Amino acid sequence: MFTSSERTMDLFHKFDTPCKGVFQKELKALDHEIHQKKGLADVEKEIIMPGSAEERLDRILEDTPILDTHNDLPYLLRVQLHNEIEGNRFCFNGDLESHTDVPRLKKGRVGAQFWSVFIECKNPDPLYQDFNQPNSAVRDTLEQIDVTKRALAKVPEVFDLCNTVDEAKDAYKRGRIASMLGAEGLHQVDVSIAVIRQFYDLGVRYITLTHNCDNPFATAASSVAGGLPDNGLTDYGKAGVKEMNRLGMMVDLSHVSYKTMHDTLDVSKAPVIFSHSSAYSITQHRRNVPDDVLERIRELDGVVQVNFYPLFIKQTDEKNKHGLPKTTIDDAVDHILHIAKVAGWKHVGLGSDFDGIPEGPEGLEDVSKYPDLIKRVMERSNATDDDIRGFIGGNLLRVWKKTEEVAAEMQKHEPIVDENWPDRTWDFWKSAASLPKLTKNAKVDESACING
Ligand SMILES: [Zn+2]
Repeated sequence: MFTSSERTMDLFHKFDTPCKGVFQKELKALDHEIHQKKGLADVEKEIIMPGSAEERLDRILEDTPILDTHNDLPYLLRVQLHNEIEGNRFCFNGDLESHTDVPRLKKGRVGAQFWSVFIECKNPDPLYQDFNQPNSAVRDTLEQIDVTKRALAKVPEVFDLCNTVDEAKDAYKRGRIASMLGAEGLHQVDVSIAVIRQFYDLGVRYITLTHNCDNPFATAASSVAGGLPDNGLTDYGKAGVKEMNRLGMMVDLSHVSYKTMHDTLDVSKAPVIFSHSSAYSITQHRRNVPDDVLERIRELDGVVQVNFYPLFIKQTDEKNKHGLPKTTIDDAVDHILHIAKVAGWKHVGLGSDFDGIPEGPEGLEDVSKYPDLIKRVMERSNATDDDIRGFIGGNLLRVWKKTEEVAAEMQKHEPIVDENWPDRTWDFWKSAASLPKLTKNAKVDESACING
Protein backbone atom coordinates (compact mmCIF):
# COMPACT_ATOMS: atom_id res chain seq x y z
CA MET A 1 0.00 0.00 0.00
CA PHE A 2 1.40 3.35 -0.97
CA THR A 3 0.28 6.72 0.34
CA SER A 4 0.72 10.20 -1.01
CA SER A 5 3.41 10.92 1.59
CA GLU A 6 5.57 8.32 -0.12
CA ARG A 7 5.54 10.44 -3.25
CA THR A 8 7.25 13.26 -1.44
CA MET A 9 9.93 11.27 0.32
CA ASP A 10 13.42 12.53 -0.16
CA LEU A 11 16.28 10.37 -1.33
CA PHE A 12 18.75 8.10 0.39
CA HIS A 13 22.41 8.67 -0.13
CA LYS A 14 23.81 6.62 -3.02
CA PHE A 15 25.10 3.16 -2.39
CA ASP A 16 27.97 1.36 -4.08
CA THR A 17 27.23 -0.75 -7.08
CA PRO A 18 26.99 -4.47 -6.29
CA CYS A 19 29.84 -6.92 -6.37
CA LYS A 20 30.51 -8.89 -9.53
CA GLY A 21 30.90 -12.60 -10.02
CA VAL A 22 28.14 -13.66 -7.67
CA PHE A 23 26.10 -15.15 -10.51
CA GLN A 24 28.86 -17.24 -11.95
CA LYS A 25 29.84 -18.62 -8.55
CA GLU A 26 26.26 -19.49 -7.75
CA LEU A 27 25.68 -21.08 -11.14
CA LYS A 28 28.80 -23.20 -10.78
CA ALA A 29 27.77 -24.35 -7.32
CA LEU A 30 24.30 -25.14 -8.61
CA ASP A 31 25.70 -27.06 -11.60
CA HIS A 32 27.81 -29.10 -9.25
CA GLU A 33 24.85 -29.82 -6.99
CA ILE A 34 22.63 -30.83 -9.90
CA HIS A 35 25.34 -33.04 -11.39
CA GLN A 36 25.51 -34.90 -8.13
CA LYS A 37 21.78 -35.41 -7.96
CA LYS A 38 21.02 -36.26 -11.57
CA GLY A 39 22.48 -37.84 -14.66
CA LEU A 40 24.30 -35.63 -17.19
CA ALA A 41 21.50 -35.95 -19.73
CA ASP A 42 19.05 -34.40 -17.27
CA VAL A 43 21.48 -31.63 -16.50
CA GLU A 44 21.95 -30.78 -20.16
CA LYS A 45 18.24 -30.68 -20.64
CA GLU A 46 17.82 -28.38 -17.67
CA ILE A 47 20.87 -26.15 -17.99
CA ILE A 48 21.78 -26.19 -21.66
CA MET A 49 18.52 -26.98 -23.41
CA PRO A 50 15.87 -25.79 -21.02
CA GLY A 51 13.15 -25.47 -23.67
CA SER A 52 11.02 -22.43 -24.39
CA ALA A 53 10.09 -20.12 -21.54
CA GLU A 54 6.55 -21.49 -21.78
CA GLU A 55 7.76 -25.09 -21.46
CA ARG A 56 10.02 -24.20 -18.59
CA LEU A 57 7.21 -22.47 -16.74
CA ASP A 58 4.90 -25.47 -17.22
CA ARG A 59 7.57 -27.73 -15.80
CA ILE A 60 8.33 -25.48 -12.83
CA LEU A 61 4.68 -24.98 -11.92
CA GLU A 62 4.26 -28.73 -11.53
CA ASP A 63 5.84 -28.48 -8.09
CA THR A 64 6.18 -24.79 -7.19
CA PRO A 65 3.43 -22.18 -6.87
CA ILE A 66 3.55 -18.62 -8.10
CA LEU A 67 3.37 -16.87 -4.71
CA ASP A 68 2.83 -13.15 -4.10
CA THR A 69 3.21 -11.63 -0.65
CA HIS A 70 1.23 -8.43 -0.99
CA ASN A 71 -2.24 -7.90 -2.44
CA ASP A 72 -4.48 -5.13 -1.07
CA LEU A 73 -7.85 -6.30 -2.39
CA PRO A 74 -9.26 -6.47 1.19
CA TYR A 75 -8.62 -2.73 1.57
CA LEU A 76 -10.72 -2.03 -1.55
CA LEU A 77 -13.54 -4.02 0.08
CA ARG A 78 -13.29 -1.74 3.12
CA VAL A 79 -12.98 1.58 1.31
CA GLN A 80 -15.53 0.99 -1.46
CA LEU A 81 -18.02 -1.45 0.10
CA HIS A 82 -17.52 -0.91 3.84
CA ASN A 83 -17.01 -4.65 3.91
CA GLU A 84 -20.65 -5.35 2.96
CA ILE A 85 -19.80 -8.07 0.47
CA GLU A 86 -22.57 -10.60 0.86
CA GLY A 87 -24.94 -11.43 -2.00
CA ASN A 88 -24.05 -9.86 -5.31
CA ARG A 89 -22.32 -6.80 -3.91
CA PHE A 90 -18.94 -8.41 -4.48
CA CYS A 91 -18.44 -11.08 -7.14
CA PHE A 92 -14.91 -12.37 -6.64
CA ASN A 93 -15.55 -14.90 -9.37
CA GLY A 94 -16.74 -12.18 -11.72
CA ASP A 95 -15.11 -9.59 -13.81
CA LEU A 96 -13.86 -6.88 -11.43
CA GLU A 97 -12.33 -3.68 -12.77
CA SER A 98 -9.53 -3.59 -10.17
CA HIS A 99 -6.36 -5.70 -10.36
CA THR A 100 -7.56 -8.97 -8.83
CA ASP A 101 -10.37 -11.45 -9.47
CA VAL A 102 -10.62 -15.22 -9.72
CA PRO A 103 -10.54 -15.48 -13.54
CA ARG A 104 -7.39 -13.36 -13.70
CA LEU A 105 -5.77 -15.18 -10.75
CA LYS A 106 -6.31 -18.37 -12.74
CA LYS A 107 -4.98 -16.84 -15.95
CA GLY A 108 -1.99 -15.63 -13.93
CA ARG A 109 -1.54 -19.19 -12.62
CA VAL A 110 -1.28 -17.85 -9.07
CA GLY A 111 -0.85 -20.67 -6.55
CA ALA A 112 -0.39 -18.81 -3.28
CA GLN A 113 -1.30 -15.32 -2.09
CA PHE A 114 -0.74 -13.34 1.09
CA TRP A 115 -3.72 -10.95 1.41
CA SER A 116 -2.93 -7.71 3.22
CA VAL A 117 -5.26 -6.90 6.11
CA PHE A 118 -3.94 -3.34 5.98
CA ILE A 119 -5.33 -0.48 8.03
CA GLU A 120 -3.89 3.01 7.75
CA CYS A 121 -2.13 4.83 10.59
CA LYS A 122 -5.04 6.33 12.49
CA ASN A 123 -3.60 9.73 13.40
CA PRO A 124 -4.02 12.29 10.58
CA ASP A 125 -0.51 13.62 11.34
CA PRO A 126 1.88 11.08 9.77
CA LEU A 127 4.65 12.31 12.10
CA TYR A 128 2.67 11.91 15.36
CA GLN A 129 4.48 10.45 18.35
CA ASP A 130 1.70 10.18 20.97
CA PHE A 131 1.12 6.45 20.72
CA ASN A 132 -1.13 6.40 23.79
CA GLN A 133 -3.94 8.13 21.91
CA PRO A 134 -6.95 5.79 21.71
CA ASN A 135 -7.61 4.60 18.17
CA SER A 136 -9.56 1.99 16.23
CA ALA A 137 -6.67 0.16 14.54
CA VAL A 138 -7.23 -3.16 16.31
CA ARG A 139 -11.00 -3.15 15.62
CA ASP A 140 -10.41 -2.21 12.03
CA THR A 141 -7.77 -4.90 11.54
CA LEU A 142 -10.15 -7.49 12.99
CA GLU A 143 -12.71 -6.32 10.43
CA GLN A 144 -10.16 -6.75 7.64
CA ILE A 145 -9.30 -10.26 8.81
CA ASP A 146 -13.02 -11.01 8.88
CA VAL A 147 -13.78 -9.61 5.44
CA THR A 148 -10.79 -11.36 3.86
CA LYS A 149 -11.92 -14.70 5.23
CA ARG A 150 -15.49 -14.04 4.03
CA ALA A 151 -14.29 -13.01 0.56
CA LEU A 152 -12.21 -16.19 0.21
CA ALA A 153 -15.10 -18.31 1.49
CA LYS A 154 -17.28 -17.00 -1.34
CA VAL A 155 -15.29 -19.19 -3.71
CA PRO A 156 -14.43 -22.22 -1.56
CA GLU A 157 -13.48 -24.34 -4.56
CA VAL A 158 -10.69 -21.85 -5.38
CA PHE A 159 -9.18 -20.65 -2.09
CA ASP A 160 -7.84 -22.47 0.96
CA LEU A 161 -6.94 -20.42 4.03
CA CYS A 162 -3.59 -21.82 5.18
CA ASN A 163 -1.75 -21.49 8.48
CA THR A 164 1.44 -23.42 7.76
CA VAL A 165 3.87 -24.03 4.90
CA ASP A 166 2.74 -27.64 4.70
CA GLU A 167 -0.90 -26.55 4.44
CA ALA A 168 0.01 -24.08 1.67
CA LYS A 169 1.92 -26.72 -0.30
CA ASP A 170 -0.90 -29.19 0.14
CA ALA A 171 -3.49 -26.64 -1.03
CA TYR A 172 -1.42 -25.98 -4.16
CA LYS A 173 -1.14 -29.69 -4.87
CA ARG A 174 -4.92 -29.91 -4.73
CA GLY A 175 -5.24 -27.09 -7.26
CA ARG A 176 -6.31 -24.42 -4.77
CA ILE A 177 -4.87 -20.95 -4.28
CA ALA A 178 -3.21 -21.14 -0.86
CA SER A 179 -4.29 -17.99 0.98
CA MET A 180 -2.56 -16.38 3.93
CA LEU A 181 -2.90 -13.07 5.80
CA GLY A 182 -0.32 -10.33 6.37
CA ALA A 183 -0.74 -7.16 8.50
CA GLU A 184 0.99 -4.01 7.31
CA GLY A 185 2.38 -2.25 10.34
CA LEU A 186 2.68 -2.73 14.09
CA HIS A 187 0.42 0.31 14.53
CA GLN A 188 -2.24 -2.35 13.78
CA VAL A 189 -1.56 -3.98 17.17
CA ASP A 190 -1.79 -0.55 18.87
CA VAL A 191 0.96 -0.79 21.52
CA SER A 192 0.43 -4.38 22.59
CA ILE A 193 2.48 -7.55 22.05
CA ALA A 194 -0.58 -9.49 23.26
CA VAL A 195 -2.36 -8.36 20.09
CA ILE A 196 0.47 -9.82 17.97
CA ARG A 197 -0.28 -13.18 19.59
CA GLN A 198 -3.99 -12.84 18.92
CA PHE A 199 -3.41 -11.89 15.27
CA TYR A 200 -1.25 -15.00 14.95
CA ASP A 201 -4.09 -17.10 16.33
CA LEU A 202 -6.39 -15.56 13.72
CA GLY A 203 -4.09 -16.62 10.87
CA VAL A 204 -1.84 -13.59 10.32
CA ARG A 205 1.56 -14.90 9.24
CA TYR A 206 3.58 -11.73 8.72
CA ILE A 207 3.50 -8.27 10.22
CA THR A 208 5.37 -5.31 8.75
CA LEU A 209 7.15 -3.52 11.60
CA THR A 210 5.83 -0.11 10.51
CA HIS A 211 3.62 1.46 7.88
CA ASN A 212 4.03 5.16 7.13
CA CYS A 213 4.15 6.23 10.78
CA ASP A 214 6.38 5.44 13.75
CA ASN A 215 5.05 3.21 16.52
CA PRO A 216 6.42 2.12 19.92
CA PHE A 217 8.30 -0.70 18.19
CA ALA A 218 10.16 0.94 15.32
CA THR A 219 10.90 3.92 13.07
CA ALA A 220 9.30 4.18 9.63
CA ALA A 221 11.10 5.23 6.44
CA SER A 222 8.48 7.95 5.87
CA SER A 223 9.09 9.54 9.29
CA VAL A 224 12.79 9.91 8.54
CA ALA A 225 11.87 11.38 5.15
CA GLY A 226 9.63 13.81 7.08
CA GLY A 227 12.55 15.00 9.21
CA LEU A 228 12.26 12.83 12.33
CA PRO A 229 15.32 11.00 13.70
CA ASP A 230 15.96 7.42 12.67
CA ASN A 231 15.74 5.67 16.03
CA GLY A 232 15.56 2.24 14.42
CA LEU A 233 14.13 -0.63 16.42
CA THR A 234 13.36 0.32 20.05
CA ASP A 235 13.99 -1.96 23.03
CA TYR A 236 10.27 -2.68 23.04
CA GLY A 237 10.54 -3.39 19.31
CA LYS A 238 13.24 -5.97 20.08
CA ALA A 239 10.81 -7.62 22.50
CA GLY A 240 8.14 -7.55 19.77
CA VAL A 241 10.47 -9.17 17.24
CA LYS A 242 11.42 -11.82 19.79
CA GLU A 243 7.76 -12.66 20.33
CA MET A 244 7.14 -12.75 16.56
CA ASN A 245 10.09 -15.17 16.26
CA ARG A 246 8.70 -17.27 19.11
CA LEU A 247 5.25 -17.39 17.53
CA GLY A 248 6.39 -18.13 13.96
CA MET A 249 5.15 -14.75 12.67
CA MET A 250 7.36 -13.58 9.79
CA VAL A 251 9.03 -10.20 10.37
CA ASP A 252 8.46 -7.86 7.41
CA LEU A 253 10.78 -4.88 6.80
CA SER A 254 8.96 -3.13 3.95
CA HIS A 255 8.16 0.49 4.97
CA VAL A 256 10.73 0.63 7.81
CA SER A 257 13.65 3.05 8.13
CA TYR A 258 17.22 2.16 7.17
CA LYS A 259 18.29 1.77 10.81
CA THR A 260 15.24 -0.35 11.61
CA MET A 261 16.28 -2.69 8.79
CA HIS A 262 19.76 -3.18 10.22
CA ASP A 263 18.66 -3.29 13.87
CA THR A 264 16.13 -6.00 13.05
CA LEU A 265 18.64 -8.01 11.02
CA ASP A 266 20.88 -7.83 14.12
CA VAL A 267 18.33 -9.36 16.48
CA SER A 268 15.84 -11.50 14.59
CA LYS A 269 16.41 -15.20 15.15
CA ALA A 270 14.42 -16.07 12.02
CA PRO A 271 15.17 -14.77 8.51
CA VAL A 272 13.20 -11.65 7.60
CA ILE A 273 11.19 -10.69 4.53
CA PHE A 274 10.50 -7.51 2.62
CA SER A 275 6.91 -8.27 1.58
CA HIS A 276 6.70 -5.54 -1.10
CA SER A 277 9.89 -3.53 -1.75
CA SER A 278 12.20 -3.08 -4.72
CA ALA A 279 15.89 -2.25 -5.20
CA TYR A 280 17.22 1.09 -3.97
CA SER A 281 20.22 1.25 -6.26
CA ILE A 282 17.88 1.05 -9.31
CA THR A 283 15.30 3.52 -7.99
CA GLN A 284 16.37 5.78 -5.14
CA HIS A 285 13.27 5.70 -2.97
CA ARG A 286 13.29 5.05 0.78
CA ARG A 287 10.75 2.25 0.37
CA ASN A 288 13.34 0.26 -1.55
CA VAL A 289 16.14 -1.94 -0.22
CA PRO A 290 19.76 -0.68 -0.36
CA ASP A 291 22.54 -2.98 -1.53
CA ASP A 292 24.21 -3.34 1.87
CA VAL A 293 20.91 -4.60 3.25
CA LEU A 294 20.52 -6.95 0.27
CA GLU A 295 23.91 -8.42 1.12
CA ARG A 296 22.79 -9.06 4.69
CA ILE A 297 19.58 -10.61 3.35
CA ARG A 298 21.76 -13.08 1.46
CA GLU A 299 23.88 -13.83 4.56
CA LEU A 300 20.85 -14.26 6.82
CA ASP A 301 18.74 -16.15 4.27
CA GLY A 302 15.89 -13.63 3.97
CA VAL A 303 13.93 -12.66 0.87
CA VAL A 304 12.95 -9.42 -0.91
CA GLN A 305 9.60 -9.60 -2.72
CA VAL A 306 9.61 -7.07 -5.55
CA ASN A 307 6.96 -4.32 -5.60
CA PHE A 308 5.54 -3.24 -9.01
CA TYR A 309 4.45 0.30 -8.00
CA PRO A 310 5.72 2.62 -10.80
CA LEU A 311 7.09 5.17 -8.31
CA PHE A 312 9.29 2.50 -6.72
CA ILE A 313 10.66 1.03 -9.95
CA LYS A 314 11.60 3.99 -12.16
CA GLN A 315 12.45 7.66 -12.02
CA THR A 316 11.45 9.48 -15.16
CA ASP A 317 9.71 12.72 -16.13
CA GLU A 318 7.47 10.78 -18.51
CA LYS A 319 4.19 10.35 -16.65
CA ASN A 320 1.11 8.17 -17.15
CA LYS A 321 -2.55 9.07 -16.54
CA HIS A 322 -2.16 8.87 -12.75
CA GLY A 323 0.84 11.20 -12.82
CA LEU A 324 3.13 8.29 -11.98
CA PRO A 325 6.34 7.46 -13.84
CA LYS A 326 5.65 5.70 -17.14
CA THR A 327 6.90 2.15 -16.66
CA THR A 328 6.87 -1.23 -18.37
CA ILE A 329 7.21 -4.83 -17.28
CA ASP A 330 10.95 -4.58 -18.05
CA ASP A 331 11.41 -1.98 -15.30
CA ALA A 332 10.12 -4.54 -12.78
CA VAL A 333 12.47 -7.14 -14.31
CA ASP A 334 15.41 -4.72 -13.79
CA HIS A 335 14.72 -4.78 -10.04
CA ILE A 336 14.37 -8.55 -9.92
CA LEU A 337 17.67 -9.03 -11.77
CA HIS A 338 19.46 -6.52 -9.57
CA ILE A 339 18.32 -8.20 -6.35
CA ALA A 340 19.27 -11.59 -7.82
CA LYS A 341 22.70 -10.19 -8.67
CA VAL A 342 23.42 -8.70 -5.25
CA ALA A 343 21.53 -11.04 -2.91
CA GLY A 344 21.33 -14.14 -5.12
CA TRP A 345 18.42 -15.96 -6.74
CA LYS A 346 17.55 -17.56 -3.40
CA HIS A 347 16.58 -14.17 -2.00
CA VAL A 348 14.17 -12.58 -4.47
CA GLY A 349 10.43 -13.00 -5.00
CA LEU A 350 7.11 -11.38 -5.88
CA GLY A 351 5.27 -8.76 -3.78
CA SER A 352 3.19 -6.90 -6.36
CA ASP A 353 1.14 -4.47 -4.19
CA PHE A 354 -1.74 -5.02 -6.65
CA ASP A 355 -4.94 -3.20 -5.61
CA GLY A 356 -2.90 -1.09 -3.20
CA ILE A 357 -1.45 0.98 -6.06
CA PRO A 358 -3.31 2.95 -8.73
CA GLU A 359 -1.81 0.88 -11.55
CA GLY A 360 0.97 -1.49 -12.46
CA PRO A 361 3.55 -1.02 -15.23
CA GLU A 362 2.58 -1.56 -18.87
CA GLY A 363 2.50 -5.30 -19.48
CA LEU A 364 2.12 -5.97 -15.74
CA GLU A 365 -1.29 -4.45 -15.15
CA ASP A 366 -2.95 -7.10 -13.00
CA VAL A 367 -2.66 -10.57 -11.46
CA SER A 368 -3.05 -12.27 -14.85
CA LYS A 369 0.42 -11.08 -15.90
CA TYR A 370 2.73 -13.09 -13.61
CA PRO A 371 3.56 -15.65 -16.35
CA ASP A 372 4.60 -12.82 -18.70
CA LEU A 373 6.88 -11.44 -16.00
CA ILE A 374 8.43 -14.81 -15.20
CA LYS A 375 9.05 -15.54 -18.90
CA ARG A 376 10.64 -12.13 -19.33
CA VAL A 377 12.96 -12.87 -16.37
CA MET A 378 13.91 -16.16 -18.06
CA GLU A 379 14.60 -14.39 -21.36
CA ARG A 380 16.74 -11.69 -19.77
CA SER A 381 18.85 -13.86 -17.45
CA ASN A 382 20.79 -17.09 -17.08
CA ALA A 383 18.50 -18.21 -14.28
CA THR A 384 18.18 -21.98 -14.05
CA ASP A 385 14.86 -23.71 -13.44
CA ASP A 386 15.77 -24.00 -9.77
CA ASP A 387 16.54 -20.27 -9.62
CA ILE A 388 13.11 -19.57 -11.10
CA ARG A 389 11.48 -22.02 -8.66
CA GLY A 390 12.92 -20.00 -5.80
CA PHE A 391 12.01 -16.66 -7.33
CA ILE A 392 8.35 -17.42 -8.07
CA GLY A 393 7.61 -18.76 -4.57
CA GLY A 394 10.09 -21.34 -3.31
CA ASN A 395 12.24 -18.75 -1.56
CA LEU A 396 9.38 -17.34 0.46
CA LEU A 397 8.22 -20.83 1.41
CA ARG A 398 11.77 -21.64 2.56
CA VAL A 399 11.92 -18.51 4.75
CA TRP A 400 8.46 -19.18 6.16
CA LYS A 401 9.46 -22.81 6.93
CA LYS A 402 12.60 -21.62 8.68
CA THR A 403 10.47 -19.17 10.68
CA GLU A 404 8.30 -22.09 11.77
CA GLU A 405 11.36 -24.10 12.77
CA VAL A 406 12.85 -21.23 14.80
CA ALA A 407 9.48 -20.84 16.57
CA ALA A 408 9.27 -24.55 17.40
CA GLU A 409 12.76 -24.41 18.88
CA MET A 410 12.12 -21.21 20.88
CA GLN A 411 8.86 -22.54 22.26
CA LYS A 412 10.82 -25.33 23.94
CA HIS A 413 12.66 -22.95 26.25
CA GLU A 414 11.60 -19.30 25.75
CA PRO A 415 8.70 -17.98 27.87
CA ILE A 416 5.92 -15.87 26.34
CA VAL A 417 7.01 -12.22 26.03
CA ASP A 418 4.48 -10.39 28.23
CA GLU A 419 6.26 -7.10 28.77
CA ASN A 420 4.43 -3.84 28.13
CA TRP A 421 5.53 -0.71 26.36
CA PRO A 422 7.08 1.27 29.27
CA ASP A 423 5.42 4.56 28.25
CA ARG A 424 1.95 3.08 28.14
CA THR A 425 -0.73 4.83 30.21
CA TRP A 426 -3.24 2.64 32.07
CA ASP A 427 -6.76 3.84 32.84
CA PHE A 428 -9.02 2.18 35.43
CA TRP A 429 -12.05 3.16 37.47
CA LYS A 430 -11.14 4.55 40.89
CA SER A 431 -13.35 1.87 42.41
CA ALA A 432 -10.90 -0.75 41.12
CA ALA A 433 -8.64 0.23 44.02
CA SER A 434 -11.13 -1.25 46.49
CA LEU A 435 -11.23 -4.67 44.82
CA PRO A 436 -9.56 -7.58 46.62
CA LYS A 437 -5.78 -7.66 46.45
CA LEU A 438 -4.11 -10.59 44.69
CA THR A 439 -1.38 -10.64 47.34
CA LYS A 440 -0.66 -8.78 50.54
CA ASN A 441 1.87 -6.49 48.92
CA ALA A 442 -0.11 -5.83 45.73
CA LYS A 443 -0.56 -2.10 45.00
CA VAL A 444 -2.82 -0.14 42.72
CA ASP A 445 -1.19 2.76 40.94
CA GLU A 446 -3.43 5.70 41.91
CA SER A 447 -2.36 7.69 38.86
CA ALA A 448 -3.92 5.01 36.65
CA CYS A 449 -7.33 5.59 38.24
CA ILE A 450 -8.81 8.43 36.27
CA ASN A 451 -12.52 7.94 36.53
CA GLY A 452 -15.44 5.96 37.90
ZN1 LIG B 1 2.78 -0.93 1.64
